Amino acid sequence: MKLTELFKNDTLSLSFEVFPPKTDTAFESVKVATEEIAALHPSFMSVTYGAGGGTSQYTLEIAKNIKKNYGVPTLAHLTCVSSTRQTVRERIGQMREAGIENVMALRGDLTPELVSSDRSRWVYRHAVDLIHELKESGADFCIGGACYPEIHPESSDQREDIRYLKEKVDAGCSFLTTQMFFDNNLLYNFLYKIREAGITVPVIPGVMPITNGNQVARAIELSGSFMPQRFKSLVDKFGHSPDAMKQAGIAYATDQIIDLFANGIKNVHVYSMNKPDVAKKILENLSDILG
Ligand code: FAD
Repeated sequence: MKLTELFKNDTLSLSFEVFPPKTDTAFESVKVATEEIAALHPSFMSVTYGAGGGTSQYTLEIAKNIKKNYGVPTLAHLTCVSSTRQTVRERIGQMREAGIENVMALRGDLTPELVSSDRSRWVYRHAVDLIHELKESGADFCIGGACYPEIHPESSDQREDIRYLKEKVDAGCSFLTTQMFFDNNLLYNFLYKIREAGITVPVIPGVMPITNGNQVARAIELSGSFMPQRFKSLVDKFGHSPDAMKQAGIAYATDQIIDLFANGIKNVHVYSMNKPDVAKKILENLSDILG
């Protein structure tokens, strides 16, 4: 099913993100975790693409397995910045063969080697280049793109970031998924600004349940997200107690999701990080709301 069809639906729903293993030996345990999440019947599941593409075949294997055996619509991620045109075209061909309908088109993060390399030699500089490649492939993919309520860390200002976002949508992105955020007001302000800039496609907010005190620094480093005082206090108080932090982190994410639903959002994407217990608990917390 194309996700754009799903987003026409008026019911409230949650989707979950999983990531492929970094090593071949971890494949079985990751597969089981993704199956447990699929068995919860989310509206869809996204499967990330390992930076550098080293274990890229697993993105497809996991996405195919979830769709075929659990009937859950999938969104396969694909990055381009460190790839050759041949590799990207091969991956697109493999997705097509595997019957993948939804693709998240991403640039990918810049490694230190890439940053110091000669940019004029890069085949793909931005996600928009991959969107063009997907369109030119002739396959009828439903394409998603990433967006950043707190602006992308490399952008100098939000106006510029939104201008490039519009370019991605105009090139063929049918929906956008946001970077994680911990203060919903940042999302509401962002939505207002992008709608004003003429971006009308569905925007799926991404919520990350922080269930481990050590996760916080890494999550902030990667996303550059603002930490509201309410969240900082919670980490200060419970960050050293794994069970308490998990309960508090799930409660905080649940609260964020309820507020998003209450303010007109219909599908929230949960960065469930291959943790079926966390996905299950959030669904239980929302059982009457989701119906
Ligand atoms: P772009 O859209 O190319 O934007 C990157 C920067 O370039 C921004 O500052 C933007 O304003 C600017 N820009 C865009 N277009 C132009 C242009 N034409 N000219 C000049 N500047 C431009 N990473 C992975 O490795 N694997 C994943 O599976 C993955 N999944 C993700 C899912 C989501 C929802 C999000 C939010 C991020 C994900 N990432 C993933 C991380 C992502 O690869 C990084 O955030 C990366 O730094 C930017 O990717 P992008 O697709 O947003 O890039």
